[in-house]
Amino acid sequence: MNTYFQSLVIALRDAGSDSPLLEARIIAEYLNNNSSEWTVEQKKIAEKIIAERSKHKPLCKILGEKGFYKYNFIVSEDVLSPRPDTEILVEAAIAEAKQTDISSILDLGTGSGCIILSILGDIETLQGVAVDVSSKALDIAKSNAERLNLSSRVSFIQASWFDEDLPERLGHKFDLIVSNPPYIATHEIAELEAEVRDYDPLSALDGGEDGFFHYRQIAKLSAKIINQGGLIMLEGGLNQEQKIADIFIAAGFSLQKILADYSGINRCIILKK
Ligand code: GLN
Repeated sequence: MNTYFQSLVIALRDAGSDSPLLEARIIAEYLNNNSSEWTVEQKKIAEKIIAERSKHKPLCKILGEKGFYKYNFIVSEDVLSPRPDTEILVEAAIAEAKQTDISSILDLGTGSGCIILSILGDIETLQGVAVDVSSKALDIAKSNAERLNLSSRVSFIQASWFDEDLPERLGHKFDLIVSNPPYIATHEIAELEAEVRDYDPLSALDGGEDGFFHYRQIAKLSAKIINQGGLIMLEGGLNQEQKIADIFIAAGFSLQKILADYSGINRCIILKK
């Protein structure tokens, strides 16, 4: 019986983790511990991690990395933590790219880069552009691209989707646009879990008064920079799918599919130009 591991699980549970066994395994892996013996040094680090975890800091932001789709991504408090729900969008994009001859992809609000880099990793014929308003987020995304050996197939642009000159700076149109924009209504932010509210950047969460502020702009922008027949794949929040679809339909897109995440929430909205 691995008693230190068990005590770690209990400590994580007491620190407020809702998946203490998984997090204990992630910590063991992080410390390269694959035996039942924990060194004094490993225990010391584990204890530091627990102390931070009890302040509701998400494990990935303590360790500085998060497993998403097939890779471990570098993360910091400057980027939204990659979430399993977003893998739905990644899988949909990869399935589409495998069936068609899509050659260019744009990620609006790339954050850690987890979406576009996961897609590029699987589809070797794709070239991508990743946009983010935060230069600190772009630094993380660039490090992830380097770490995954994908730097030659992705370029990074620091810009807001409200910038008038963004279409010109992008230089060409895209076959596929992906985005997980901020979509939490401003008045709901205070009620979010501390892990999200206190450690994800507000700029990656705040979707304005009704939560749809950024989708309206992304719809306007995307209509200008997508190839005819191109696809846009968007992540949305709980009960937002129809409204998001309507915003893009009004901008000239047609609804293709809505995909549910692992909890049954309609998370990914796919439209065609
Ligand atoms: N999925 C995040 C959450 O619900 C929000 C991310 C976003 O606004 N894009 O906590």
